[in-house]
Amino acid sequence: MLSRNREGSAMQLEFQCQKCEESFSLDVSDVQSDPILRCPGCGTRAPDEQVEVVVAALEEMFAALAPLRRKFTVSVEVNSEDMPPPYDELPVVVAKAALLDEEDSEDEDEEDEEEEVAELE
Ligand SMILES: [Zn+2]
Repeated sequence: MLSRNREGSAMQLEFQCQKCEESFSLDVSDVQSDPILRCPGCGTRAPDEQVEVVVAALEEMFAALAPLRRKFTVSVEVNSEDMPPPYDELPVVVAKAALLDEEDSEDEDEEDEEEEVAELE
């Protein structure tokens, strides 16, 4: 059934929407070329920057695994509900007000730091 396809990556990312519980999966190579994560069920979308960070982390992991591949085949199951400390805390599930579509307002501290490059002579 599965034909070997050396061209496309068969690696899949699996997601479950916290809002509507729809499960879906995305091909890693698709996410790499188009870092968009949107629930096909309800349209909930992850912030682009969060998806990009995940893609960058995956690429780092691939780069790290590549040399290891000579001696070991590695399979890592990453489940965001099963992560080691300090990432094991459950997300705060906001009680859903049935008909209200409230947007989470994230508290982002805007840091206005200017980088000072001190040049030593
Ligand atoms: Zn959904």
